[in-house]
Amino acid sequence: MITESRVKEFVNEPFTDFSKPENKQAMEKAIETVRSTFGQKYPLIIDGKEIMAKGDDFIVSTNPADPKEVIGYFTKATQKDADAAMQAALTAFESWKKVSPEKRADYVFKAAEIMRKRKFELSAWLTQEIGKSFAEADGDVAEAIDFCEFYAREMLRFAGKQPVTPYPGEDNKLVYIPLGVGLVIPPWNFPLAILVGMTTASIVAGNTVILKPSSDTPAIAYQFIRIMQEAGLPAGVINFMPGPGASVGDYLVTHPKTRFISFTGSKEVGLRINELAAKPNKGQIWIKRVVAEMGGKDSIIVDKDADAEEAAQGIVSSAFGFQGQKCSACSRAIVHKDIYDKVLEKVVEKTKKLSIGKIESSDVLMGPVASKSAYESILKYIEVGSKEGRVVAGGKAHQTPSNGYFIEPTVIADVDPKATIAQEEIFGPVLAFIKADSWENAIEIGNNTEFGLTGAVYSNSREHLKEAAEDFHVGNLYLNRKCTGALVGVHPFGGFNMSGTDSKAGGRDYLLLFMQAKSISEKIK
Ligand code: NAD
Repeated sequence: MITESRVKEFVNEPFTDFSKPENKQAMEKAIETVRSTFGQKYPLIIDGKEIMAKGDDFIVSTNPADPKEVIGYFTKATQKDADAAMQAALTAFESWKKVSPEKRADYVFKAAEIMRKRKFELSAWLTQEIGKSFAEADGDVAEAIDFCEFYAREMLRFAGKQPVTPYPGEDNKLVYIPLGVGLVIPPWNFPLAILVGMTTASIVAGNTVILKPSSDTPAIAYQFIRIMQEAGLPAGVINFMPGPGASVGDYLVTHPKTRFISFTGSKEVGLRINELAAKPNKGQIWIKRVVAEMGGKDSIIVDKDADAEEAAQGIVSSAFGFQGQKCSACSRAIVHKDIYDKVLEKVVEKTKKLSIGKIESSDVLMGPVASKSAYESILKYIEVGSKEGRVVAGGKAHQTPSNGYFIEPTVIADVDPKATIAQEEIFGPVLAFIKADSWENAIEIGNNTEFGLTGAVYSNSREHLKEAAEDFHVGNLYLNRKCTGALVGVHPFGGFNMSGTDSKAGGRDYLLLFMQAKSISEKIK
């Protein structure tokens, strides 16, 4: 068994270098292998048992680059399954909470080890099921490994002696104990990393879980479940339950035995969960804890004396990496009027060079957007945006013979700070360029949405960088670098305002959200 003193200091998982032919080839081979499994049927896993749909009640996961291709058919959970999953999780909790923190951490360390060995295969699933480029897929898997390594270490830290003030005549201590059964609801955009982070944090802290993956990405979620089984995790600790958010989701959110809900996704769904969870139901004896990480409308501010080339590079990479579908993606460039034209020109030039297509080689940087509904919604925003500003790059769907959901990376200039595309989360490859009259005006615009997730500032003024640190109200602020690519442990992640509960995933406060502290005081005789 691993104890804290034997565990090496946490370091981030290195990214794969796809300029090396052996890595490129390994990935291409993994894609072939994954594709050879397409079209299979997958069960729910409740209490370690597989439950396969009897009729044709499946969630069909398709390849967004070629929607005719079925990645897999996933058994759709019903309310009866939800009840069974709750029962399994409640029963498993009674024994799992007594398993030592060190042993629980061991399972999670083991999962990291398995993921590391299967890196290319896991990345391959991400390229096919959700259209991640090689580098983006590799980043997602690396982050999943990081979450396991980080939270397992964190559990060992919390299991250690906690500081309390000595008091004469008493022996006092504080211990962290788990909460109970949690409902884990991740999004499709980091369908491995975020799902793994939310789930492993829950279980390593001693809770048991009902995991409802996004209906757009059940295949990669299923791979994780298999990895946890291979790591030897006891049955019932994680119950795998793909199902419709609206019915099964609501049912479990309101269930009196649900102790906490860990959600990452849109503002609308997050607020709904928060509201439903707040109301106690018959038989409920606690206030449910809700961790809800939600949307963003993230900006990069460029000051008048900034390096235009560096800023443009940062903007393009933050705006169009994974087709702009990161909660941290830059969807607004707020540029000082003195440098506006120069930065815009560079951004347009770089945007036009981005390669777009099916993710079959490392040369393609942009794949399809996630789904038909995402595709339609983004194109609508582009239509709105074309009336709110000047389309200077992209502006339409990218046609392919496969009828995939491809959209050109789009830059819309001269957008008013209060325009729809400057305020609402689009979650696609659409960047609004906004002109600021002054530095103060740029910060004011940066803070003018209901969100507060990430933001970046490019400036050569120490004074302005200091002001940004104080006044730019975002959970993750980056100075003179892009606003995406938060690393576990290095940049604890979470946003302000309508961006959520600021849980700071990958940080040293995160595990506390999944535990409660018990103070034990004994009189010394
Ligand atoms: P979504 O809100 O549509 O779905 C998120 C999850 O909630 C999915 O698993 C979905 O099936 C489930 N769901 C839907 N309705 C439900 C209901 N009534 N009850 C219970 N569950 C329900 O979000 P999405 O489209 O999957 O993800 C994109 C969103 O996630 C964007 O807004 C993005 O900004 C946000 N996001 C935020 C962060 C962050 O850390 N703040 C990280 C990633 C993504």
